[in-house]
Amino acid sequence: MLAIDENGDTHFNPKNGMATMPAKWLGQFYNACTDPCDMLLGPCACGAWHHQEEWPVDIQLAVFGNISDKKTISHQRPRGERG
Ligand SMILES: [Zn+2]
Repeated sequence: MLAIDENGDTHFNPKNGMATMPAKWLGQFYNACTDPCDMLLGPCACGAWHHQEEWPVDIQLAVFGNISDKKTISHQRPRGERG
């Protein structure tokens, strides 16, 4: 079952090859700056261009429906406090 956004669309759009971060995980991932990652595949708020294998397998399965055959290199950081 793929994750869908508030519009009922899947987060991965095969037409443009980009995938957005589901709200469930928004704010859990940061790269080099203070803006949370908002893209899973494509140009992100953090300034990077992300690829599928950068994310944990649960997110890959939820958004792409499969796991990348490349080695997963998640950059999730522990999240102790909020706000
Ligand atoms: Zn990012």
